Amino acid sequence: MNFTDSFLKRITNAEKIVVFTGAGISAESGIPTFRGKDGIWNKLKPEELASFNAFLKNPDMVWEWYQHRRSIIHEKSPNAAHYSITEMEKYFDKVSVVTQNVDNLHRRAGNNNVYELHGNIERNYCIECKRPYNDSGLELENKQVPKCDYCGGLIRPDVVWFGEVLPQDVFAESERLAAESDICFVIGTSAVVYPAAYIPLGAKQAGSCLVEINIEETELSQIADYSYFGAAGKIMPKILDEIKKLKTSI
Ligand code: NAD
Ligand code: ZN
Repeated sequence: MNFTDSFLKRITNAEKIVVFTGAGISAESGIPTFRGKDGIWNKLKPEELASFNAFLKNPDMVWEWYQHRRSIIHEKSPNAAHYSITEMEKYFDKVSVVTQNVDNLHRRAGNNNVYELHGNIERNYCIECKRPYNDSGLELENKQVPKCDYCGGLIRPDVVWFGEVLPQDVFAESERLAAESDICFVIGTSAVVYPAAYIPLGAKQAGSCLVEINIEETELSQIADYSYFGAAGKIMPKILDEIKKLKTSI
């Protein structure tokens, strides 16, 4: 893969990096994306499982589905793309990961600044008193939804469901980081889920350099400064190699 001189120059001069990621970055770890030909939503209707109403109507079924997804995720590991981003931290003032993923793989790969716009499937909380439930009594074999020890409320996964608002503090901070970034990498996202997709748009509007990595063209390709098409696990290590060369030779 050949990178243009203008792209390499942007890397040399960059200090603040934002990496905006979607389900595609975890595809090579073996976690299916939602859209696309093998996407989960082609087989199940999202509103039947991933909404608060669905949960109230059939809490055990929704809980079991999340336990199933968790058990899949536990068996998987971060891939070369996640690890390349972690290593990038050595070469820039700040690398912030803003992710739409709930799979916890960025944290498992050791990234230090992770902003989860849609929550984290490893966490849970009580729908009544909002107490967090992150480990106790939530064994994966547990097929029935657990109840809160304090108030008896149902325990739900700490993910953003259809119709719910994003965590406002996380979103606001992500917008701020995007606006002040020098480069915004956009990796493995179809960029059609709003408001999350405002993050790369805001970065571009504020003058950041938009670098897209995806296996195919997306909504963002038109406005990206650079697009590299291929698997994230192949391309990110190559970009990291360039970063190492440029940032250690100064
Ligand atoms: P998406 O499923 O809509 O799109 C995935 C994108 O990744 C597509 O553009 C596809 O071309 C690209 N892609 C697939 N394999 C790739 C690879 N190896 N390298 C680079 N790109 C690749 O995902 P989205 O944009 O993140 O939106 C879906 C929503 O679903 C998000 O809100 C997210 O919360 C949720 N989700 C999360 C996970 C997860 O946590 N791993 C998995 C599925 C869905
Ligand atoms: Zn409670």
